[in-house]
Order: sequence, then structure tokens, then C-alpha cells
Amino acid sequence: MKVIRLREGKERSLQRGHPWVFAGSVEKGRADAGETVRVDSHDGRFLAWGAYSPESQIRVRAWSFDETERIDATLFQRRIAAAVAMRQRLAVPSNGVRLVHGEADGLPGLVVDRYEDILSVQFLSAGAERWKAQIADALLAETAALGCTRLYERSDVSVRELEGLAPAKGWLRGAGDTTVTLREHEIRLTVDVEEGHKTGYYLDQRENRALFARLVRQHGCQSVLNCYSYTGGFSVAALVGGATDVTSVDSSGPALARAQAHVQLNGLNPEHHRTLDADVNATLRQALAEGRQFDAIVLDPPKFAPSAAHADRASRAYKDINRLALKLLRPGGLLLTFSCSGGISADLFHKVVAGAGMDAGVDAYLLQRLEAAPDHPTTLYFPEGEYLKGLVLLKR
Ligand code: SAH
Repeated sequence: MKVIRLREGKERSLQRGHPWVFAGSVEKGRADAGETVRVDSHDGRFLAWGAYSPESQIRVRAWSFDETERIDATLFQRRIAAAVAMRQRLAVPSNGVRLVHGEADGLPGLVVDRYEDILSVQFLSAGAERWKAQIADALLAETAALGCTRLYERSDVSVRELEGLAPAKGWLRGAGDTTVTLREHEIRLTVDVEEGHKTGYYLDQRENRALFARLVRQHGCQSVLNCYSYTGGFSVAALVGGATDVTSVDSSGPALARAQAHVQLNGLNPEHHRTLDADVNATLRQALAEGRQFDAIVLDPPKFAPSAAHADRASRAYKDINRLALKLLRPGGLLLTFSCSGGISADLFHKVVAGAGMDAGVDAYLLQRLEAAPDHPTTLYFPEGEYLKGLVLLKR
């Protein structure tokens, strides 16, 4: 077994249960991509077993902090079984569930979403890639009781480049139709694991979509602007909540076509919904110029800041759309505003939105703080897991 020795003082992060070793912390030792290594402190004490990644700034991702634990197929089986059991306890009200959420489930670099009978999987690190076959077998074994029989790989993401891995996409186990119907709370949504974003859909917003339906009903919202709508999850929620004038704005035509189909699939009135294939920023400016007003607005943009290095520029972009949205709301109107940027903390996001309110000359009650659904867990020792944050504002 190859040993990676850390520089003096660099053992602290692993000792606090954080699973990453950065390149700058390594004093000596190297291994092949994904190879299991032992990580030792400067003075030769065991710290962790991990997967080595020669090209990544995250040089080692820990599999285990227990010296007696063996890194083999049974470890992946145990970790996957535990992750699946945790979701069973959550009693997620959907057949679309995140079953494995990377580091939070002790499986760095592995993301697994269940869509009915399909597991849609991302292998994002050299370590996860190395154990792909064993992980695929364990996933199907541990989810057979849920009725999962097929596994589709969606490792077609740019972060793999940082690990020296090429994109990969396609069936790993099973085959057939890649589209399934989700039943999420009381709504139905179709997902194509081949063409959909990420693993197919944004399961992390499930509880926030359901909340939006309740808020729209409670506050009697009629006109709703759903910005960055993707396939219209928040739009369908608004219609379920009783809205009669809902606009889905997105720059993806296929996503909007699916949004329109979702309105029909849920038996909702298609005359209450329209789609707008446009840039959100331009749409907000135009609506303002036309003097339009809305009872509720959703802002769920893509990641503006993948890391803290992009935080400044991203903050300006968030501030801009939030300022426009706050102006476009009727007094008493609701804003659901999100950031899924790992580089923007919940505190910073709050400050940015407060700045937007100041610039708009608008005050608002902060009704609720939002986060990802609980099947996308964070842990005490891995704050990086907290990527999605949101606010529910009521304009005064
Ligand atoms: N709210 C959605 C997920 C949004 S994902 C849900 O609950 O399912 C972000 C979306 O923003 C993507 O669909 C992408 O096509 C769209 N997008 C990205 N940049 C955009 C822009 N400048 N204007 C409009 N849409 C944009």
C-alpha cells in the first residue's frame, strides 16, 4: 500500500473528519489515479485511507478514517446500504430520490439519483471511477427492493476534467427507454435521464416546489413569473396552488416544451400558463420597462459561482436579478430566490439580496430560509455540502 505523507500541521483537517487532502498539504508519496493510499501525518501516524488523484487539486479523498477498515467492494456495499436506508427513514414523498450524495454519505465523488426504476449516476472523482463496476453492482443489489433494475451513467460533466477524466454517458446496466414519470408530492413530472440536466432533474428543489404551491394558495397569488424555470416544476406548483397567470422563462426551448407538457400532464389549464424562450435578465428589464407587476416571482438561476474565487462577480449577478425582481413585485408579493453556488455562503447570499432590496428601494419580510431537500444531506464535518440556499421574501 502506498503511503502519502502530509506536511507538518496539515493533519488537522482529516482529524476533524473533513475528507479532502489538498495538493499543497502533501509532503511526499504518489500513486495512480484512483488507487487506494494510506495517508499519514508528518510524524507517521495513520490518518485515513483514501483515493489518490494525481491531476486534481484535491489530491486525496478519504474513504475511511478507521485504520482497521479495508477498502474493498464490501465497503462500497455497506456505505450504499446505509445511504439507501437513511432515505427510507426520510420517507421521501417521491419516486425521484437522491440516494447517494457524495461526501455526506462517505462516498466522495459519487452521486446517485433514483428515478423510478432507473439509477442515474455520476462518477466525479478518480476514486469513484476506479471502483465503478463494484459500485454499479452494489447499487443495483441495494436498490432491488425499491424496484431499481437499470443504471444510467451521467458522468458528462466538466468537473471530471479536474480529475483527468473524460466525460462518459450511457447505460452501465440494463437498457431501454430513458424517460420516466416522477410523482413528486401531488404533481407529476417527466424526466429523461439521457437529456435532462445533471442526472436528469433538480430533485434538490422538491420540498421548495411543494412549499411554493402552499404559499401561492395561502397568499392568493394569481400572476407568477418563474425565472430559470427549466421544465416548469415551480410553474406546475404555482398552478396547483391556484395561480391563473403563470409564465415560465428559460433559455432552453426543449425544457420549455416539457414545461408546457407538464401542465397538461397534471390536468391543469394550459391557458393559465405560457412559456418564454428568453434571457431572464432581459425579460426582467423589459417587464419593468412595460410597468408590469407580479404576485410572486421565483429566481432559481444556474450556478453563478462554482467556487469562492467567482464570488464577487456572481454576487453582482445575483444582486442584479434580485433588484429587478423586487421592483417587479406588487406590495405583498412573494419572492422565492435561490443560489446553488458552492462559492456563495448563506450569509453572503442574504447580504447580496439585502443589497438588492436597498438598491430597489424595497423592504421585505424574510418569511423563511430554504435549503436542499433532506435527501441531499450535509454533515457536521463537511460544510462544502451546503450548496443550495434560498429565501422567501414578502414585499412590504
Ligand atoms: N427551477 C428549476 C431548475 C432551474 S435550473 C427546477 O425546479 O427544476 C436553471 C435553468 O436556467 C436551466 O434550465 C437553464 O436552461 C436556465 N438558464 C440558464 N441561464 C439562463 C438565462 N440567462 N436566461 C434564462 N434561462 C437561463
